[in-house]
Amino acid sequence: MKCTLLFGGTFDPIHYGHICSAKALLEKFDESSLVMVPCRIPPHRPQPMASAGDRLQMLKLAVAEESGLEVDDCELKRQGPSYTFDTLSAYRKKTGCESPLYFVLGHDAWVTLPTWYRWVELVDLAHLIVLGRPGQFADEPEELKNWVQDRRVTLEDSQSEPCGKVVGINLAPIHISATAARRALACGRPVDDMVPKPVERYIVERQLYVTEH
Ligand code: ATP
Repeated sequence: MKCTLLFGGTFDPIHYGHICSAKALLEKFDESSLVMVPCRIPPHRPQPMASAGDRLQMLKLAVAEESGLEVDDCELKRQGPSYTFDTLSAYRKKTGCESPLYFVLGHDAWVTLPTWYRWVELVDLAHLIVLGRPGQFADEPEELKNWVQDRRVTLEDSQSEPCGKVVGINLAPIHISATAARRALACGRPVDDMVPKPVERYIVERQLYVTEH
């Protein structure tokens, strides 16, 4: 069945950790699309360094040659904090109530879920896919552990329902983060192993991330 996958983030900048994970994930679905949704004002983490316009442009450059990957600037156009709840509500209206909708997040973001706006209701709108990510992150809080217990299913089982489940997926680990890319750029080191060439060119032309803060 055709599904819609949404991958939210600051994408400051987009890197191969995002792109390769998105592509590998999409291979597990038939005829589906994955939409990267950059946030304007992240409510649960430090604010991005690059402007919304630059982050959007870098995303567009990165997905230009990737079939199946798309970008939606809906959160950039909305006023106020970029709540995932609002984005999923809007997508649920668009897709209707039958077809599976997935929100994709990495493990580091997953463990912060109980701090998110209306987090318990997110699964009334979509399934969650939690991607394993190399590195050390906070433990899953007890509240989240208890909540997820009877919601965890396999990807296959989730596809028969439109929302309500949590799927953990471990893809080939990619040791790249936007923080590492920003640090490298601030030190004048090349980032060609972290971001696609057109994105690197854009960063250099616009002199983004020349300082770490
Ligand atoms: P920063 O280093 O600034 O915190 P980031 O690399 O985590 O940034 P984000 O834009 O914040 O990038 O990430 C968007 C989403 O992608 C988050 O859910 C995050 O967990 C996930 N993600 C980022 N990098 C990876 C990776 N290498 N593997 C799996 N998931 C990732």
